Amino acid sequence: KLENATARQELGRASWKLMHTMMARFPEAPTPDDSLALQTYIQLFARLYPCGDCASHFQLLLQEFPPQTSSRNAAAGWACFVHNEVNKRLKKELFDCTKIGDFYDCGCGEDNKADKM
Ligand code: FAD
Repeated sequence: KLENATARQELGRASWKLMHTMMARFPEAPTPDDSLALQTYIQLFARLYPCGDCASHFQLLLQEFPPQTSSRNAAAGWACFVHNEVNKRLKKELFDCTKIGDFYDCGCGEDNKADKM
């Protein structure tokens, strides 16, 4: 049904936005606990994602391409890569992951600046 497709797309856009913005704010030099938190978050996200079909596909993707959580760059690059894998499956345009740098801005102002230093 069309409404279902629309709702699924809105959920997808919102979810990707949160995911990529979270990666853009992940520490550049995470502690082991930070990395574990992100690993856990991604696994639970994949398990609980409300579109069941999407969730099963995404869980398989995670098995093939395990989350990279050793740094902000690694995490952001990984998320961009797996989003592109989903794009491929859905026959969407691919995103140039070399341009991910400033694309996702949380609007957190000073916080953000301090983090980038
Ligand atoms: P989206 O793919 O939602 O992207 C939103 C915006 O992000 C784009 O406009 C672009 O500016 C940017 N972007 C695009 N690619 C990247 C990238 N690689 N890295 C960073 N930014 C990027 N839908 C289904 O129909 N079937 C599924 O199986 C399915 N599985 C999904 C699994 C997950 C984990 C998620 C989060 C979503 C899934 N979706 C699925 C939804 C689907 O991925 C899209 O979100 C939805 O179709 C809306 O697409 P869109 O064209 O608006 O762009």
